[in-house]
Amino acid sequence: MHATQQRSVRLRSLLNQRVCPVRATQLFSTSASRDKQRLVVLGSGWGGYQVLRSVDKKRWDVTVLSPTNAFNFTPLLASCAVGTLEFRCAVEPVRRYSPQVTAYQAWCDAIDFKEKTLTCMPATPPLSFEKSSAPPVEKTTTETKFPGTGTPFTLKYDKLVIAVGAYSQTFNVPGVKEYAHFLKDVRDARSIRTRILECFEQANQPILSDVQRRNLLHFCIVGGGPTGVEFSAELHDLLHAEIAQHYPGLARMCKITLYDVAPFILGTFDRSLSTYAEEKFRRDGIDIKTKHHVERVEKDKMIVKEQGEVPFGMLVWSTGLAPNPLIQTIQSVQKHEKTQSLLTDEHLNVITQDGKVDPDVWAIGDAAIIKTDILPATAQVANQKANYLAKKLNRIVRGKEHDKPFEFHNQGSLAYLGDWKAIYDRSNAESGIKARETGRLAWLLWRSAYFTMTLSLRNKILVPTYWFLNWIFGRDLSRF
Ligand SMILES: Cc1cc2nc3c(=O)[nH]c(=O)nc-3n(C[C@H](O)[C@H](O)[C@H](O)COP(=O)(O)OP(=O)(O)OC[C@H]3O[C@@H](n4cnc5c(N)ncnc54)[C@H](O)[C@@H]3O)c2cc1C
Repeated sequence: MHATQQRSVRLRSLLNQRVCPVRATQLFSTSASRDKQRLVVLGSGWGGYQVLRSVDKKRWDVTVLSPTNAFNFTPLLASCAVGTLEFRCAVEPVRRYSPQVTAYQAWCDAIDFKEKTLTCMPATPPLSFEKSSAPPVEKTTTETKFPGTGTPFTLKYDKLVIAVGAYSQTFNVPGVKEYAHFLKDVRDARSIRTRILECFEQANQPILSDVQRRNLLHFCIVGGGPTGVEFSAELHDLLHAEIAQHYPGLARMCKITLYDVAPFILGTFDRSLSTYAEEKFRRDGIDIKTKHHVERVEKDKMIVKEQGEVPFGMLVWSTGLAPNPLIQTIQSVQKHEKTQSLLTDEHLNVITQDGKVDPDVWAIGDAAIIKTDILPATAQVANQKANYLAKKLNRIVRGKEHDKPFEFHNQGSLAYLGDWKAIYDRSNAESGIKARETGRLAWLLWRSAYFTMTLSLRNKILVPTYWFLNWIFGRDLSRF
């Protein structure tokens, strides 16, 4: 049974529990005294974590509910996956804001907007006296690593922020969930890094033929958006630096292939920049296969409509976003027809089916779209919405009005292309300087942007330290 099935079985079992009084969920209120209003934040990603950071925790009784107890700094995941940075550089603990904030490592499985309650399921292993409602499966994406187990509980809220993000889109291609790696969080990055090193140690065994070695050292990336491109670039850096040094015989057998169904990669960038990226990749020996359709994935190989069987040692799948199962369960508020994200007004409040705004519920990040202004699903948008919302909440709690609608300020898009080169695109910004940049200067912008955005002082020290250490000594290839 794969992850989605398991979650729907779990949801079904939850529903059963809700109609069966004997197995009713336990009701919890948050820890603070009731003179404060209860603000519950669902999710600890770019949207949720930023609300948590900026909201007035003295005036709100804040609870965060997330299946992970950390925030993932997603732009650095590709670097972590190849060892340019260490994993802890890309995470921030949610409990940094304890004891002001109550945090539960749990899934929210259902929202009752009328009763203002949340049905939650611990995302921790079941305790010895609990019966697991879904057996844990050992896969690394967030969606499958911590399937809900144990005893469900209910939380009450006065105000709710939904920031649960989205899942990886697979387009229901058979075998993707079983045999491909996703790159959504730090666990995914760790399993990719482990697999890369494993491929080299397997290929290095004396019993293998050269054909078998080449197959193992074929790294396929499906999805030519920024994540797939940046991962290909980081992998190329690794292969041409430390791998070439540590495995000289195997390095010449490595191959990276980037697949996309679209006619070109980086479709959201200005065409001149995506052409620059394609030319650079071709010069670097990264094979770009656009207009290619993966039909099926099996263990160690995939079936591509235009090519037939393609063996691989590792496949990374990054073809966009699919709706979060929690969002799929919600029926009482409006959703975008195509993406199934929650629709909000320009104040980020969700809109009920009869067209009214719910004044107590906001939705931000990849799980939400403003009805009148569809913005890209990026950290930049999630972060700006979260800052806006935190300001609004801080005014509300003081009894003040906040009527200003949300306004997005496009700061441009960046993508790393390997070899200390990048692209920067601000050509379609509505105000300010319209700019396009390529090469070293764009790379400097890329590094300084992510260094500036890094949140804690600890990571502001760790990130440049690892950049420097790995530049001097190379990436660590130890496998443990
Ligand atoms: C590898 C990678 C690189 C990226 N690089 C960039 C970049 O350079 N620039 C950029 O602008 N954007 C980038 N993005 C996109 C960006 O990360 C997302 O747009 C952003 O994370 C969206 O924020 P969010 O808060 O909506 O969701 P997320 O950050 O995904 O957070 C969702 C949170 O909700 C939690 N959650 C999920 N389900 C539930 C549930 N049922 N109950 C409670 N909690 C739940 C999750 O555990 C998580 O904590 C990148 C994405 C990836 C994967």
